Amino acid sequence: MQTRLNLETGAITGAMKQSERRLCDLAGVFADEAARAAMNPETVVYRVQMHDAEKEGTPGGLLFGTSVVMPGKVGDEYFMTKGHYHARRDTAEYYFCIAGQGALILMREDGTCWAEPMERGTLHYIERSVAHRLANTGADPLVVGCCWGSDIGHDYESIARGGFTKRLVEMDGKARLI
Ligand code: MN
Repeated sequence: MQTRLNLETGAITGAMKQSERRLCDLAGVFADEAARAAMNPETVVYRVQMHDAEKEGTPGGLLFGTSVVMPGKVGDEYFMTKGHYHARRDTAEYYFCIAGQGALILMREDGTCWAEPMERGTLHYIERSVAHRLANTGADPLVVGCCWGSDIGHDYESIARGGFTKRLVEMDGKARLI
């Protein structure tokens, strides 16, 4: 099975699933909820495309997707994805950056949180039991490719409840994880 990945935009030809998240879908995700509520609720924060060669949940297969996080901030916090753990914690994942600038924010279950800077060509191995989210710190879309096992499952709930222990904000013109 073959398709094409656009190495500028991240578009996957024949992507079978796509979704987008707007500011109105992200209540409670950013620290400054008043700032989020004051912005245009239709503003797109990120889009995801998926080439689901396998049905989700199928053991032993792989899935591939691209995420595009738009440039922008809510208050001083950069536009970012909701983030997740894998439902099956003993599963890893690869991310790589296709375009733009940003960070992969990572957190262990003990709350240890850190970030890896992303720019075109950076390759990131996300270890088992590590939650992950993307943030765009640049002026252009952040385009990221992802490859994960088809049976890992996604646990967004743990993040929706507890969040990440650190946030990526702009301070004095620089990205800082605080
Ligand atoms: Mn993942």
